[in-house]
Amino acid sequence: MKSGVRKPSFSPWMLLLPAAGAVALIGLLVWLLPPAPAPSDRTLPDYVTEQLLPLNPYSRPGDALEEVNGVVVHYVGNPGTTARQNNSYFTNLAQTGETYASSHFLIGLEGEVLLNVPLDEIAYCTGPRNGDTISIECCHPDDTGEFTPETYASLVKLTRWLMDRYHLDASQIIRHYDVTGKECPLYYVRNPQAWTDFLDKLSQDAA
Ligand SMILES: [Zn+2]
Repeated sequence: MKSGVRKPSFSPWMLLLPAAGAVALIGLLVWLLPPAPAPSDRTLPDYVTEQLLPLNPYSRPGDALEEVNGVVVHYVGNPGTTARQNNSYFTNLAQTGETYASSHFLIGLEGEVLLNVPLDEIAYCTGPRNGDTISIECCHPDDTGEFTPETYASLVKLTRWLMDRYHLDASQIIRHYDVTGKECPLYYVRNPQAWTDFLDKLSQDAA
């Protein structure tokens, strides 16, 4: 004979406990998670000069950069040109419309650093990775594409700052070549050891 245990009848109050638990859990998570760093240009290092491009379809579309999962290093591919000349080239694309190109940063032959595109907007530099990377273009004195010691020193300093800001490790610092196979930055594609040395330096300095 079956026991006569009565099945408890449903009560709306029974929903209250899990609901309260869920609310408490969400509240705890919100409290624990650090606030997302507001990508404001006011936080730029003092060695960076803002030389922002005008909003235009060819070099500064104004589209939001939603996430940063890497930093991509480039060379300008135009020996002997200065950071300001390359910045002007990007600026003039607004009028000439001859191509789509820009980078977040330009590092000049003397190690000067220009910001062309705000860090919360995309730049046109790395094809399929434009949407989740910060780009740095470096000037170079000759056809080899090797950076001057001053450019190199600024590149190390700036990349380390970006790694810190976006919580990146050295494996997320890549060459344009690693994305599309383009020989950019030329010297650091043709001399893989020079690129490895650069990555090692980032890790050493970060320690
Ligand atoms: Zn490139």
